[in-house]
Amino acid sequence: MKIAILPGDGIGPEIMEQAVRVLNCLDEPFEMETALVGGAGYEAHGHPLPDATLALAKAADAILFGAVGDWKYDKLERSLRPEQALLGLRKQLGLFANLRPAILYPELVGASSLKPEIVSGLDILIVRELTGDIYFGQPRGVRSAPDGQFKGQREGFDTMRYAEGEIRRIAHVGFQAAQKRSKRLTSVDKANVLETFQFWRDIVTEVHKEYQDVALDHMYVDNAAMQLVRAPKNFDVIVTGNMFGDILSDEAAMLTGSIGMLPSASLNERNQGMYEPSHGSAPDIAGKDIANPLATILSAAMMLRYSLNKPKQADRIETAVKKVLTQGFRTVDIHEAGTTRVGTREMGDAVVKALAA
Ligand code: NAD
Repeated sequence: MKIAILPGDGIGPEIMEQAVRVLNCLDEPFEMETALVGGAGYEAHGHPLPDATLALAKAADAILFGAVGDWKYDKLERSLRPEQALLGLRKQLGLFANLRPAILYPELVGASSLKPEIVSGLDILIVRELTGDIYFGQPRGVRSAPDGQFKGQREGFDTMRYAEGEIRRIAHVGFQAAQKRSKRLTSVDKANVLETFQFWRDIVTEVHKEYQDVALDHMYVDNAAMQLVRAPKNFDVIVTGNMFGDILSDEAAMLTGSIGMLPSASLNERNQGMYEPSHGSAPDIAGKDIANPLATILSAAMMLRYSLNKPKQADRIETAVKKVLTQGFRTVDIHEAGTTRVGTREMGDAVVKALAA
């Protein structure tokens, strides 16, 4: 079982160190190899996704990714910015399915901006298509407007598109995830306005015929955004396109109060996956030993479950995380009066200790 470890920038190396410690406690024959990515890759090799890093990622069964980015790279041309490493890895490895759970741990109910009765017990999964849609559609660019009221002026444009096969494969991921949970799937689209998403709705409805045990409903994205804050527990699994999923998964993340707690998985057709926390590189707190490592540790648990076929070890890590929360350990982002404030490394220590118990 070969794991590529890509810590990245900002808090990436600090939180990754704790996840690797946790993996090392499991007594499994993992082969872990570390490589530079993002700003760190650019500094060392002139590119955010150096060839050696890409080769390692391709050869691995799974990739554990920290975070990339720093404001100091904002002036670089787009293709050299740290975030391009993520897009490159998704595209090169065909990571088309992004799974983002949003779980509210009972101990953290006070961290949510919603009332406890609306949000307590929240446990939803957003399945976001990751390699298509308006983010990758061609043509795109800035040109002279060919028609309309502003004809001849400069205009920016992008292309929204989804091929049938792209919709089918993400729909299958959504239905299969629903089968493993409460057998309810909500497909989110904008079929009332966009041709692409009327087509999306038609194809998802067709794929549903293969999953008659799952109840499917369709919802427009504007309504879904509203329902997520009005009655989030009405959802179980949501499947949606790249752009809508980008926005809704961040909204769902914030329902849980701390982005420092949320893992994510991006899978390809062979179940090879990249696992990473939902947050960014947090340059504002980098190097201070205060970042929350739990999202990265929980990402390692998802990796064990989805790519390395070690569900029991995944359960062990998740149970250990629940235990340290019950014990009252909190990093600064989730700290409340009456709990014990700990740093990044101390939180790692607590999880390691809970695993050993
Ligand atoms: P961010 O997620 O890095 O930080 C947002 C806020 O949350 C900050 O106040 C930060 O201190 C806090 N935070 C984030 N993770 C935390 C953790 N584990 N523990 C405690 N607090 C945490 O988002 P941003 O500030 O918008 O972006 C910073 C950089 O990260 C940018 O360069 C951006 O492009 C990049 N970014 C990378 C990824 C990725 O690598 N997947 C995702 C989003 C943003």
